Formats: sequence, structure tokens, C-alpha cells
Amino acid sequence: MITLGCSKNLFDSEVTMTQLKANGFDVEHEAQQDDSEIVIINTCGFIDNAKQESIDTILRYAEAKKEGLVDKVYVTGCLSERYKDDLAKEIPDVDEYFGTRDLPRLLKTLKADYKHELVGERLITTPNHYAYLKIAEGCDRPCSFCAIPLMRGKHVSTPIESLVKQTKGLAAQGVKELILIAQDLTYYGLDLYQERKLAELLRELSKVEGIEWIRLHYAYPTGFPMDVIEEMKNNPKVCNYLDIPLQHASTSMLKAMRRGTTREKTTQLIQDIRAMVPEIAIRTTFIAGYPGETEADVEEMKDWVEEMQFERLGIFTYSHEENTHAYQFEDDVPEEEKDRRAAEVMEIQQEISLSHNQQKVGKTFKVLFDRVEGDYFVGRTEYDSPEVDNEVLVNKKDHFVRIGDFAQIKITSASDFDLYGEVVHE
Ligand code: SF4
Repeated sequence: MITLGCSKNLFDSEVTMTQLKANGFDVEHEAQQDDSEIVIINTCGFIDNAKQESIDTILRYAEAKKEGLVDKVYVTGCLSERYKDDLAKEIPDVDEYFGTRDLPRLLKTLKADYKHELVGERLITTPNHYAYLKIAEGCDRPCSFCAIPLMRGKHVSTPIESLVKQTKGLAAQGVKELILIAQDLTYYGLDLYQERKLAELLRELSKVEGIEWIRLHYAYPTGFPMDVIEEMKNNPKVCNYLDIPLQHASTSMLKAMRRGTTREKTTQLIQDIRAMVPEIAIRTTFIAGYPGETEADVEEMKDWVEEMQFERLGIFTYSHEENTHAYQFEDDVPEEEKDRRAAEVMEIQQEISLSHNQQKVGKTFKVLFDRVEGDYFVGRTEYDSPEVDNEVLVNKKDHFVRIGDFAQIKITSASDFDLYGEVVHE
């Protein structure tokens, strides 16, 4: 099984692997050598770079099949959902293409049955102590630049009972950190319960023994349910961390992007959240180079980034995606100019990140250790999500910690995106 793209795709791959294993298949995730009998590629179709990576991976395994290294190649996921017919014409060596909601049909093709009873069980491909939990599929938002609703369909929340059962299964496997994901986390429950239920879900999940950290990814600013922040404030298991993509600062750009909010409203939201949980780490992402973006819009974004001092920030360059609302407009910002604008914003953020990190020197934090790398044990505080945020490095020569365990770490020095520390023996 090969996974491209986001953590939601990784979750889908894990569910597929669990079903296949239960049907007697010997499954492996991203095997180094190309000698598996069957290869399933779970693709990403989000933006140009991701699409190219998916196509290159399909071509690689189609070639491996021609060379007799693999018997069958199947393709699933977002790119396949979006371009199934074109792909089948362009790369006919693939045995079959499947959509994002085609697991039962994929299993049937492999002469396997879909086993409903496996809800509480999942093979995880992340280190054993943390796992992603997808709480909903699809999205009802009209963001003009986004092709995800075309590939993932409408928002469908997973019932609380099923999510609690899945979480108990994960905790039984040793998972301590649960990372909640969806296309729009804060929309959770509106379809199923006709009301927002994320705060209630957090309460139920935090009752599961063994789970120590619950992390929130992919929140949406408009109509943001503040009871979630209330729960974060009062529930020690909910990390003081929020990933909330905001996409831009200028109200005219937010309008053009159909985000349903303004700079003023977003500023107020962030201030309200920080007033309730002052030590929260807010992660956000922006888009540079959206059609019609002016130099003034970019200056406004840079000023706002300076003003808001986000703890974590990433930026993408706009990708002109067919069949999205924005596709009708001219993609008028040249690629190099998009890159220049993105680089300017990240330069500001680098300074901000360094100053946030320097304020942590001398303080002690609970750190979950993920791996050993070179001379260091590498972990994260509750303010850092895997693979995207800062890491805490503890020198192996002077200290020992167990991977998968928590330890109290006193921060001794800081760089732009990393912290260095020592074990505090209680
Ligand atoms: S919230 Fe907007 S950007 Fe996010 S998946 Fe939905 S449509 Fe796309």
C-alpha cells in the first residue's frame, strides 16, 4: 500500500490495509523494494505538485509491472476519483482505478470481503504511540480554490459511538496521542445531529483510558464553535493546539476565495481564542498568488502575520484547479511571483517562530518522544503536531528517554523551528 497526500489519505490506507489483512493478505505500507505481488497506490489530487507526484508514482509501478516485478497495480484516492477516465486512457497498464469511496469494490476485485466488524480495529502506519482519527469525510464549504469537495463529496460525520470504539481500539494498541482530522473539523455533527458536536466528541474521546493527548487539525474559522475552546481550556487531555487554515488576511481576497469571513472577524476570533487559552499554539496556512491578488493584498498579509504572531504557519502557492469556482478567473500571478510572495511571508514567520521558541528556554514541558535521529532523541510538546511543527531534541550522550513515552524536558536552547533540552528527573 502506498499513500500520497494528507493524513486523511493515510487513514484511508490504514483502513484498507486492515480489511486486507483480515482477509488473509500479507500487507505492507510503502515497502522499499518493488517486488510486491499487488500494489495499491492511494493518490492525492489536491494541487499541481501533489498530482504530479501521484502520476509519477503510478508510472513507476506501471513500469515495474511491465518488468514483471509486480503482478497487479491498482490506483485509488483523490487523483483517481477526479481523473479516472483520463488516467485509464493515459496509463492503461494499471489493472483498475477506484474512487475515494470505492473500498468495497476494491476488496471485491481482490476477492476479499468488506468486514464491518473491524470498526474498532486499525493497522496504524504511524509510530505506535500516536494515530490519526478521521471524524468526517467530505466538505460542504464553497472555497473557490478548492477541489476537495469534487473528490471527497459532501460532509459526512462519523457517529460518536463508532469514533469512541475506534479510539478504544487504538488505545489498546498503545496509542497515547489522538490527532483528529477531517476536511472541516468544526462542521462535525451538523449533518448527523443537526448541531455542532465537536466539543461533546472531545469529552467522550477523553474518557478513553490510555489516551493522554487529543489534537485538533483542520478547523474552519467561519461559525467557529467556541465551546470547543471552552472544552480545550477545561479538559487536560485536549492539547492547547489548534490547526486552523485561514488562507489570507485581506478581506477582498477572503471574499474572492468565498471564505465567508473578513480580516476583522478573523482577528477577533483569534483574539477570543487566545483570551480563553492564552498559551495555545495556533497553526495556520495561507495561499499566495490567488487570481487578482495585488501587491497591497500581499503587504496586508505580511502586516497581519506580523501582528497576529501565529505560533506555526505554512504557505502554499495558488494552484489553478479545473472545475473549481476560481478556475474561471485568469491565473494572473506568475509562478515566480507566487514563490517570491510566499518566501517573503515565511521569512517573517521564521523570525516569529524563533522568538516564540526563545521564550520557551528555561521552561519545562511534557514531551512525547517519537524517534531517535543521529545523536538525539526527538520528541514534541503538546504545541507541536507530527511532521509539520517544531521538535524537541535531547542529546543521547547525556540523557535517556523511551520512544513512545512522555518525559519532562527543560528547554536549554532554541532555533527557528527546533528546541533543545534536558530530562528533568522528578
Ligand atoms: S474547507 Fe474549504 S479549503 Fe477546506 S476542504 Fe473544504 S472547501 Fe476545501
